[in-house]
Amino acid sequence: MLSFDPEKVSLPVGHYINGHHIQTQGAAFAVKRPSDGKIYATLREADAADVDRAVQIAHQAVKISGWAGCAPRERGRVLRRWADLIEQDSLLAQLEALGSTRPVSDVVQHEIPFTAEAIRFYAECADKYSGDLFPTRDSSLGMLITEPYGVIGAITPWNFPLSMASWKCGPALAAGNAVVLKPSELTPFSTVRMAELAVQAGLPAGVLNIVQGSGAVTGHALVTHPLVRKVSFTGSTVTGARIMSDAAQHGMKPVTLELGGKSPQLVFDDAGDIDVVAQRILRGFTANGGQACVAGTRLIVQRAIAAPLLDRLTVLCRSVQPGVTWDGDSRYAPLIDERQGNKVASVIAAAKAQGAEVLVGGERFADTAEGWFWQPTLLCNLAQDNPAVQQEIFGPVLTVQTFEEEEEGLRLAAHEIYGLCAGVHTLSLPRALRAMRAIEAGTVWINRYGRSGDFIIPTGGFLGSGIGKDLGRQAFQACQRQKSVLIDF
Ligand code: NAD
Repeated sequence: MLSFDPEKVSLPVGHYINGHHIQTQGAAFAVKRPSDGKIYATLREADAADVDRAVQIAHQAVKISGWAGCAPRERGRVLRRWADLIEQDSLLAQLEALGSTRPVSDVVQHEIPFTAEAIRFYAECADKYSGDLFPTRDSSLGMLITEPYGVIGAITPWNFPLSMASWKCGPALAAGNAVVLKPSELTPFSTVRMAELAVQAGLPAGVLNIVQGSGAVTGHALVTHPLVRKVSFTGSTVTGARIMSDAAQHGMKPVTLELGGKSPQLVFDDAGDIDVVAQRILRGFTANGGQACVAGTRLIVQRAIAAPLLDRLTVLCRSVQPGVTWDGDSRYAPLIDERQGNKVASVIAAAKAQGAEVLVGGERFADTAEGWFWQPTLLCNLAQDNPAVQQEIFGPVLTVQTFEEEEEGLRLAAHEIYGLCAGVHTLSLPRALRAMRAIEAGTVWINRYGRSGDFIIPTGGFLGSGIGKDLGRQAFQACQRQKSVLIDF
């Protein structure tokens, strides 16, 4: 039975530094459950001195413990044990379902296995990549060696707390770094549990520390700390720009930035079974209540099949039912909080003021107490400059635009700000490949929408959607720096 009592979950309160739960005296902040808006904990944020302590401990621990210098396969062994503990721990699943927007069934069936498997992927990388040898004079040897950065600062958003933490910590730890991670202040607890399990698995205490608090105070102190040599961030484009600027001014640190998106779903009249396509489009914009960076929120459909596709989508949207995340039967995610609810409502209002029509949804579900469950919403009659087409809404809202010719569809699919991903739905191979080439996005999915369990495929955005890659070998290699060496005999 997956259902659990939200009042009976034991919370790992505080920061997690050097293998201990630490309470500090920073500003207090309340943490609410998305499903019913109830405050279930109050935490104190880490100020600059607290962050300094966590970073200093990480800096020492990675050297003293031998984590950076041990045989890479030993790091791999610890990470594999960690992944096993993550899969076995029932508290972790409950903490994630309680505090995030993910229904517990989704956490258990997808989020936890996905998190554990990402860590296993990086355990395998630990001893697979080396430097290089260069052709030089006989009397010298030129080479490139790789080494860890030292301390990596990681900052994650609230929409997928566990898997985002695994994408940051897996490659960084496998490459021999220490990590100081700040989860979102909206979803602080599951990441702490993950770090406890890492220590149980044999990760030396202090090599992974978690600091709690806001972006402006705790996040800023982490990004600008002189001993943090690299920053890996996932979150909004506005925050990413701020972090890039802070990192440039405080040590010219490399940054990996996984940012926002406004991804198109380009459906041609030869897309195949229309029921299958409708299901795919629905999942693409309603998964996690639309609160996914990769959400496919712009439907661009060839006119000949627009009416039947919208008919099916309307029926599917109406069948969605809300339910609290701790109920094992719930499948549909609430919005994270009231602020996010107001944002969704305001963009829909602005879209309507510019001529948009609501085909279905457009409102919060009634009778969901203080939880912000938003009805799957279809908006049509939209010009390209309508705010609902332009802005990342981060809610279950799909804009619908139609086109006649391929070229027009591709033009509508382009976005000035974002280039995270795109879906192309057609059974014509030449058409699919033309679209793949034309679309300016870091990922293009053809006849599917969403990631697979292939961790080897990196993910990352173009344009305002980011810099660098998470997942794949690329993320591991980005956690190592390269040193050129020339030896004269
Ligand atoms: P956000 O940018 O508001 O916050 C993300 C994290 O950054 C939080 O931990 C926050 O406390 C911290 N932060 C805020 N200001 C900071 C600062 N000045 N310095 C350091 N840290 C700071 O984003 P959010 O609302 O938590 O998450 C939603 C956003 O994340 C969406 O835009 C979504 O598209 C994006 N996202 C992107 C990906 C991806 O892989 N591209 C994945 C998930 C989410």
